[in-house]
Amino acid sequence: MKPSVYDRTHEEWVTWMKEMGEPAFRADQVMDWLYKKRVDSFDEMSNLSKRVRESLHEAFRLDPLETLTVQESRDGTVKFLFQLHDHHAIETVIMQHNYGNSVCVTTQVGCRVGCTFCASTLGGLKRDLTTGEVVAQVLAAQKYLDRKGGSRVNSVVIMGIGEPFENYDATLSFIRVINDTHGLNIGQRHITVSTSGIVPSIYKFADEGLQVVLAISLHAPNQELRRKLMPVSRRYPLEELLEACQTYSEKTGRRLTYEYALIGGKNDQDEHAHELGQLLVGSGALVNLIPVNFVPERNYTRTSRNQIFRFQKIVESYKVNATIRREHGSDIDAACGQLRAKHMDEEEKNVPTDS
Ligand code: SAH
Ligand code: SF4
Repeated sequence: MKPSVYDRTHEEWVTWMKEMGEPAFRADQVMDWLYKKRVDSFDEMSNLSKRVRESLHEAFRLDPLETLTVQESRDGTVKFLFQLHDHHAIETVIMQHNYGNSVCVTTQVGCRVGCTFCASTLGGLKRDLTTGEVVAQVLAAQKYLDRKGGSRVNSVVIMGIGEPFENYDATLSFIRVINDTHGLNIGQRHITVSTSGIVPSIYKFADEGLQVVLAISLHAPNQELRRKLMPVSRRYPLEELLEACQTYSEKTGRRLTYEYALIGGKNDQDEHAHELGQLLVGSGALVNLIPVNFVPERNYTRTSRNQIFRFQKIVESYKVNATIRREHGSDIDAACGQLRAKHMDEEEKNVPTDS
């Protein structure tokens, strides 16, 4: 199968144009057609010669993602279920904030990391997404907004299905394409990549010369509990993870965000809040507290509102900033992987446990 036009970074377009005997600015033109004018065919690229258009047509696919379902929430959240060419389903979400629209993208079909609270890992990893398949999600979201009145995608969070740092190269090229001024021009400070803590990739990412926000899925204030909830912590223990995070913020000058899903009775007690405060005191990091999303395959319960606020207060008593994440699309299947999990054949699911 031909590669997708959305796979290529600006630099790669320049190389391709050179090979065609064309000047470098043709790369700007192609990207402008794809990402600014958002055309659906090569024929519409009217400032390129017929020869170049035909060569593009021969070398690349220009096909949008196929939409299976679109759910629109009362709070403005929009959730897409897309189908890939090999029939796998993936999810993409648009969230409305007072500062604009953010889009949450998927990087893998499934996930092999196996966090016990997560629907995305049910059934394991099917395959990595290509750069183009991740880019196409943001483009599809932008085209949806174009049809609804024209607001812009302001920020992107790489927090959908999959572990982006287990699909490192595609994630990196994706960031470069959406950040490019001829691409969707989304500022690096408006791009967040969330990882369960793949330590070697955090070090590598720190050396890419980017200003992207790094979010770490922490979910426990100590190694003993973390390894139960997140098997990845057996490979990369908490202490090593925090060292890598420190390096990332020193090298990039960006402060980190730690995601902490509150799971009733597991990690949401006062003692956990104290431990979390002590762990992050003086780090300058931000803690994002997330009431755990209900996943039907799990028997986890949610933390009461009172306890969530209490937890936040305790963490903040250590001068660590803690916010409670507003829920988006609670009337639709908005938790990561839920829509896809529902779509998947029950037989495929293989539920990991936390013991
Ligand atoms: N694999 C990456 C990014 C995708 S998961 C990571 O783990 O960071 C995006 C976020 O959703 C992570 O912080 C993850 O821990 C969280 N998450 C997964 N399942 C959840 C659930 N049931 N409730 C709340 N948050 C959940
Ligand atoms: Fe994978 Fe992230 Fe889900 Fe863990 S939380 S299983 S790393 S998608």
